[in-house]
Amino acid sequence: MNIAFIRFYEELNDFLPPLKRKVVYPVHFKDSPSIKSIIESEGIPHTEVDLILINGNAVSFKEKVNPDDQISVYPVFESFDISPINVIRLKPLRDPKFVLDVHLGKLARYLRMLGFDSVYDYRYNTDEILRISILEKRAILTRNRKLLMKKELEMGYWVRSEMSFNQVSEIIQRFDLKNQIRLFSICTICNGRLQPVEKETVMNQHPGFKFYPGTAFYQCNDCLHTFWYGTHCERFKNAVTERV
Ligand SMILES: [Zn+2]
Repeated sequence: MNIAFIRFYEELNDFLPPLKRKVVYPVHFKDSPSIKSIIESEGIPHTEVDLILINGNAVSFKEKVNPDDQISVYPVFESFDISPINVIRLKPLRDPKFVLDVHLGKLARYLRMLGFDSVYDYRYNTDEILRISILEKRAILTRNRKLLMKKELEMGYWVRSEMSFNQVSEIIQRFDLKNQIRLFSICTICNGRLQPVEKETVMNQHPGFKFYPGTAFYQCNDCLHTFWYGTHCERFKNAVTERV
């Protein structure tokens, strides 16, 4: 059995048992495994990792680990400039798109309300979620770490919070989305695109609806559901962004 020494930084420690957090500790291995398999055997999905240094050199996931190697593993960097060093993971997309696992329906609705393209269906199994992520280049949002360990997966994020409202703040922060929020652009029901619609059209479709002066309306191109401009959306947006 060989030994190398590893340390995980910042929020990667969330995945570790207390004794392994924020310290250098030994990992045991046979032959010469890849650094990716060592990291995942410690319970950390590769999608969470941005930078790996072995003996001070940046390496890819395929790098073999040798006895006595000193390994440092870093998460996605939010605010430092690490551009001179080769990073592993794709940076968050300019046009962020998500696919959510079946337990995150409320988070999907919140993200849509803020204008983020979020595919969700409670009937999807993990293979379908993975397929959609790869085919449509969507980051998987999940609380299931095993799903993030699939080797084909490039982008994913393990949602830490259990409360939906905290989750949405977490996603906005992690993917740096604060300046990309667009209320009334995505249908919260079906993820279709919304467009403004005239009051007369709404009156014809919904006779008897009580109109307030100045109310603006939006309709979904796909399911044709009509939304009206309510201050609750603005308040929701402010509550989320205040925390970020
Ligand atoms: Zn719709």
